[in-house]
Order: sequence, then structure tokens, then C-alpha cells
Amino acid sequence: MTDIPKSHPRFTSLTQREKLVEGLRQGIVVPQGLIAHGRGEMFDYLLGERTTKEARAASRAAATLFLKAKRPVISVNGNVAALCPGEIVELSEASGAKIEVGLFHRTDDRVSKIQKVLEEHGAKGVLGFLPDARIPGIESMRALCSKDGIYSADVVLIPLEDGDRAEALAKMGKKTVAIDLNPMSRTARSATITIVDEVTRAIPELVRNVEVLKDDPRAAKRALSQFDQKKNLAKAMASMSANLKSFLDR
Ligand code: ATP
Ligand code: MG
Repeated sequence: MTDIPKSHPRFTSLTQREKLVEGLRQGIVVPQGLIAHGRGEMFDYLLGERTTKEARAASRAAATLFLKAKRPVISVNGNVAALCPGEIVELSEASGAKIEVGLFHRTDDRVSKIQKVLEEHGAKGVLGFLPDARIPGIESMRALCSKDGIYSADVVLIPLEDGDRAEALAKMGKKTVAIDLNPMSRTARSATITIVDEVTRAIPELVRNVEVLKDDPRAAKRALSQFDQKKNLAKAMASMSANLKSFLDR
């Protein structure tokens, strides 16, 4: 990895790029994943590279959905595995959710490499290598999933998901929690709850909320009942727009 000085103003962003490039070298990330990250970076720049109040509210509601779920599953792709494997395992442990590898560009080799990375961070029973079910309405390899995982899940966390799959999961009647920096994407708009935040900030925030709300059912109930997905997405867009406008006067 290229050595980036900690004092660099863009340290976090540059370190993430290094992680993705390293993931590409290891065969975890695909080149298309780098482009998808670039799209995310652009929206994060608009957001001010911070976790907004709206994202925190969405995260609390999402944590409640996870705590209420009977069969929660976390879907993991190459970028997520390269950026925050340890945090994914923490979320799985805190919430009791299973982890399933779900890839847009699926090969057995890539699934097994991602599974290995997750296991190195303590994950157990990672699903996805031997898919035995299909998501209806999706063609090709992208439909493949596990009967014991995503197929029979009631709540699915879909960080950096593709719009087709996000829409198909919603059509299956599942509750979905998207983590997506683009509030305009099909994924963001078809999810039950969308956390408009960068995934490496969003997952630890979700872990914290699961841990806190586990012991506070009243606060958990309130977080979910007060949450309005449409309004929350509108606020995320308003945040970006206000940030952009503030540059006009500088
Ligand atoms: P959709 O398929 O939902 O219509 P899209 O085709 O524009 O959206 P994809 O390339 O399918 O987007 O998925 C990548 C999405 O993930 C983008 O919306 C991007 O903003 C988001 N994204 C990329 N990197 C990150 C990240 N590190 N954290 C959060 N979101 C990210
Ligand atoms: Mg897409």
C-alpha cells in the first residue's frame, strides 16, 4: 500500500482508495467496484463527508428493524469486504444477523476469497458459496442466493447494492436497509430504510445503535415509528444542496 501521511487532509478518503486497490489486487474487488466507489465519493463530497442527523435517525430506525427481525441477513459484496470486514462481523454479532456474500459479478473464486476475509475477521457460517435459491425477476448469476440466508430473510441489509436486486428484494416482501450515498439511486428509493452515509461510517454507527437500543425497547420503538423514509431522503438531498450552495458565497 502507498504510505499516506496521517496529516494529509484527505487521509481517510485516500486510505479507502488504497484498501480498494489492494482488494482489487487480491481478487476481492472488481474494476467496476472502483468506479462505483468513485460515484459514492462524489456524493460524500456533497454531503460534507460526515454522518448527518438524518443518517443517524435512519440508522436508529434500521437498528430497531434488525432487533425486531426474526431472520436478519447482511449482504456483503467486494467493496464492503475490502472496506470494513471487521465492522460487518461486529454488526453480525451484535444483531444476530447472518452474513451472505452476494455479488453482481459473481465467480466462485471471488465468493470464496470474500468469505475467507470475513472469516479472518471472526465471521462464522458465512453463506453464499453454495447458492440454492434464486431471487425472482433477476437474470443470470446475480439472482443466486441461499435459501437459509437472503431467500428466507425478513430483513436484509444491502450496503452498496445494485438497483435491480434492491427492487427485487422489496418485491419479495422483504424489509431492506440500504446504505447508499446516492439518495437518488433506485436502491435508495426502493429500500424500506435508506442510510445515506459512507459505509465505513454507517456500519459502526449501526453497531452502536443496535447495542444501545437492545436495552432500551421504548427508544427503539420510537426511533422506528418516528422515521419517515421519504422525508428522510428529502432531507439528505436538502443537506447536499445546502452544502453546495454554501460554496457559492465563498
Ligand atoms: P442503482 O443501481 O441503485 O440505481 P447505481 O447504478 O447508480 O444505482 P451502482 O453502481 O449500482 O449505482 O451501486 C453503487 C452505489 O453505491 C452508488 O449509488 C454509490 O453512490 C454507492 N456507494 C459507492 N461507494 C459507497 C460507499 N463507500 N459508501 C456508501 N455508498 C457507496
Ligand atoms: Mg446499478
